[in-house]
Amino acid sequence: MHVGRCAEAHLGCPCRGDEAIHEERSRELSEARATADLSVECPECGSPTTPLSIVSWGNCRACRTAHSRSTHPLRW
Ligand SMILES: [Zn+2]
Ligand SMILES: [Zn+2]
Repeated sequence: MHVGRCAEAHLGCPCRGDEAIHEERSRELSEARATADLSVECPECGSPTTPLSIVSWGNCRACRTAHSRSTHPLRW
């Protein structure tokens, strides 16, 4: 039995194997791809970004980079 691992988990899919959640996200993603040439505002910083970024990460690329820095600070 195939449990729990979604092929798109590394892309930010939150379904953990739940098909309803996965379908919902797939639909949002394909809608976002269809409008990929549109520009939307990042809900965090207000900068223009793509709908795909918002669906995938909830914010723009710059915000995502900033978050990953704050949650996984570089250690030298
Ligand atoms: Zn999934
Ligand atoms: Zn942003």
